[in-house]
Amino acid sequence: MKMTNTQLPIEEIVQNYSTNQTSGLNDAEVVRRQEENGKNVLTEAKKPNIFQQIGRHISDIASLVLLFAVVLSIYLALTTDSGWTKPIVIGSILVLNVMIGMYQEHSAEQALSALKKLSVHEVQVLRNGQKIMLDATELVVGDVILLEPGSQVPADARLITASNLSIDEAILTGESLPVDKISEPLREEPEEIGDYQNIVFSGTAVTQGNATAVVTEIGMQTELGSIAGMLNQTKVKQTPLQNRLNRLVSSLSGVAIAGGIIIFLLGMFLHGDPLASSLMIGVSLAVAAVPETLPIIVTISLAHGVKKMAKRNAIMRRVSAVETIGNVNVIASDKTGTLTQNKMTITKLWVNEGGLTAVNEVDVLDDHQAKLLKMFGLATNAQITKDENDLALEIGDSTELAIVRLLHKFGMSRNSLENDSPRLAEDPFDSTKKTMATLQKLPNNKSLLIVKGAFDRLPINRDTAEYAEALKNHDAFGREALRVLAVGYKVFDGVPTESIENLQDEVDLLGLVGMIDPPREEVIAAISEAHGAGIKTVMITGDHLETAKAIAKKIGILNAGDSVLTGTELRKLSDEQLMDQIEGTTVFARVSPEDKIRIVTAWQEQGAVVAMTGDGVNDAPALKAANVGIAMGITGTEVSKGAADMVLTDDNFATIVAAVSEGRTVYQNILKAVEFLIGVNFAQLFLMIFSVAIGWGAPLIAEQLLLINVLADGIPGFYLSREPGEKSVMKQKPITQLTSIFANGLGTRVAIRAVTFTILTLSIYAFGRFGMSNGGAAIGMTMLFLVLALGSMIDIYAIKTRESLRVASFKSNPTLNMGMTIAVVLVLAVAILPPLQNLFELVSLPPMAWLIVVVTMFIPTIVLEINKRLQNRNRVDNEYQAITED
Ligand code: ADP
Ligand code: MG
Repeated sequence: MKMTNTQLPIEEIVQNYSTNQTSGLNDAEVVRRQEENGKNVLTEAKKPNIFQQIGRHISDIASLVLLFAVVLSIYLALTTDSGWTKPIVIGSILVLNVMIGMYQEHSAEQALSALKKLSVHEVQVLRNGQKIMLDATELVVGDVILLEPGSQVPADARLITASNLSIDEAILTGESLPVDKISEPLREEPEEIGDYQNIVFSGTAVTQGNATAVVTEIGMQTELGSIAGMLNQTKVKQTPLQNRLNRLVSSLSGVAIAGGIIIFLLGMFLHGDPLASSLMIGVSLAVAAVPETLPIIVTISLAHGVKKMAKRNAIMRRVSAVETIGNVNVIASDKTGTLTQNKMTITKLWVNEGGLTAVNEVDVLDDHQAKLLKMFGLATNAQITKDENDLALEIGDSTELAIVRLLHKFGMSRNSLENDSPRLAEDPFDSTKKTMATLQKLPNNKSLLIVKGAFDRLPINRDTAEYAEALKNHDAFGREALRVLAVGYKVFDGVPTESIENLQDEVDLLGLVGMIDPPREEVIAAISEAHGAGIKTVMITGDHLETAKAIAKKIGILNAGDSVLTGTELRKLSDEQLMDQIEGTTVFARVSPEDKIRIVTAWQEQGAVVAMTGDGVNDAPALKAANVGIAMGITGTEVSKGAADMVLTDDNFATIVAAVSEGRTVYQNILKAVEFLIGVNFAQLFLMIFSVAIGWGAPLIAEQLLLINVLADGIPGFYLSREPGEKSVMKQKPITQLTSIFANGLGTRVAIRAVTFTILTLSIYAFGRFGMSNGGAAIGMTMLFLVLALGSMIDIYAIKTRESLRVASFKSNPTLNMGMTIAVVLVLAVAILPPLQNLFELVSLPPMAWLIVVVTMFIPTIVLEINKRLQNRNRVDNEYQAITED
């Protein structure tokens, strides 16, 4: 940072950076500066180069053991007459293994970097004299940026103007209280970041006020950039499931290596086999039994989930959220804009002394009604203009747009109102106080204070007959699901000297408007889908209780037996009391963003996994506290997006439910991969150890084992991540993060598969060796190779869907079919083509042997299907029980 920036007057700053505070930079200048200084990005930690990547893949357990096998075989080739086939074949398998690993990881990374591009951070900038929205990475030094509540500061910048500006600098200073900022030059050079009162820093957040500023540093030159080393540790945190699977893989690797050692010892000491060949078979068995592809398949499944969720309008900001969203059992959703369409239309007016009017029944307004509308119009910031194609361009808050639309309908406009009575001051709306006020200039040296907002928050006298009448109408509006806005006013002689905040007491109530905001059409179905999936949806809104209840009933959130809480009631409850009540409560009305965090924690205390939505600056803490914080892509502030785990590009509740279903699908696919990868590994261990122990010798040679391992583990399993979701994913209760990987029958299925394959392969080998030939191993070995390789690949079709196998099951995942075809062709090529046969020590089979192979290789699939039908029948019974118990 250039220290003097703090002490210079604004004119000099502007001059030093060759910019213009009213028009900003022009395009040519921007291009020039970007060429010179690059983009406004924090450079990422360097990607490992190709050698480092290879190095990393070779250093996983399976590859290390494989490498050992290569070295060993080379040693044998050099010292004995065993030839070079083995080292070449095993070496190729090692290369193939590393290549598949690298390819898989690469596709996972691609999906994740696409994710980064999706989450752009937008800023308001002055360019060529115009205010535009821009991706923050496009900023250059000298740009004039505009900040408002909820903005995230995109670069380090010196303030030009600052009104009422407060900034949360916790990311840099750790200080959680916002600091006030000014635009005036400082007298002394500050010593600590927190003292740079007229500088705003990249990454910090505007909590209050408005400002313009000149960008002075971008990218790595910012204060944030200087600590980016810390932030660069973007080593994606492992998800809980990943952690558990990694532990599983380590223990299975232990078993595999133990198996390898056993077979080595058996071969050497029981049978007196040569050291080298015993060692070779031990090593190969260990390699085959280590489920080394599992961690990669998990990463790919998560990455694929991210991609699919993005297609369905949910942008994941953290990979771990892909998993967590599937575990959610409570969704706490904002009402306005998320459950509803956010298209408000005023349908009713009530004016003090003028009575109640349905808007669509009048063509001209009487004086009372016109006055009401004018007051609302003056205290409004939304704007409807025309764009270049003469289409209406609506800017501003949806509630206020409803007012402006009604003004236009009755031939008035905000501009002409504003011309007659210009605005002197404003106290902006916020969701905690739920009102806003403006001070307008009246002719003959008077001024007009207007307060508009929630009826129960308006500073009016409540002891009057008018109040009672207003309350009656207010409640009636609410029961019709209308959002109510009240307005009051007060006239002053001259311009009051007090600040607008202090003027707001005892205003005269003028009237109310009621506006309808219809529920989104998809929401009702989404809520019932969530319900069927064991997920409770609760509504959180700043609106009045009656309005909230009416809508909640319509969309199925408030049902018989559910209770409601208002913000006022909630604040009276202790944390324990809230915890007791939380489970029965589905509507929270008139709450402030500050209350949301208590709602989240109360649910979490009950053991729930909570998804919560939010859009404002004040929502950020609740979004962080929630298990999955969800921000609104359209109406949300940058700060809320920054705090969230997930951003909805369509602000739609139904998208959350879609994301849950994708999250669950990812989780299921990972479990399917576990099931697919580990059952046969055990069978291979049993087969080899048993066969050697009873004196049949090794029924498969090292190269065969390794090839089966690469093809069967590496290729089909990889495509399980692309398996589309099953209908049943949203008909089950949420899986908690404590549920064992082997729950829900998975353990049984793995065991069944291990046993089936052990028995099958031993029988085939015995039959081939003693039934089809006279004790020679070649035919039995070839039959065993085929049955094991093909059988353990085709049963993926029984594993990939929990529903019973049918024709459609074969169509749902074309990439899997493609991978399978490649793998099957490779296996057959090895078994049929003479040169490959020789390489892998296989022989041509007589037709009878082929027949047996083709028939028996389907046995594991059939056994799995039978078991599936039994398990599914039990599950249906259990689910039925669970439902009747509820
Ligand atoms: P929600 O979370 O449902 O959007 P808010 O906290 O934004 O609720 O709004 C709560 C109440 O504040 C509304 O019922 C309305 O009475 C009032 N209100 C909303 N927007 C404005 C506004 N722009 N100006 C004045 N009052 C408003
Ligand atoms: Mg709102």
